[in-house]
Amino acid sequence: MLENVMEFFRNLPPKKCVSCGDKMEEQAEAYGTTCDKCRNSH
Ligand SMILES: [Zn+2]
Repeated sequence: MLENVMEFFRNLPPKKCVSCGDKMEEQAEAYGTTCDKCRNSH
């Protein structure tokens, strides 16, 4: 699973959630890799 996530992330542009694959707001840069939804569910 983790390997898939890493590979997934490498093939993505930087502003995309690695958890759900949704586009992220640039203001989420403090968290970098996950969107608001995924952040809130953690
Ligand atoms: Zn997400």
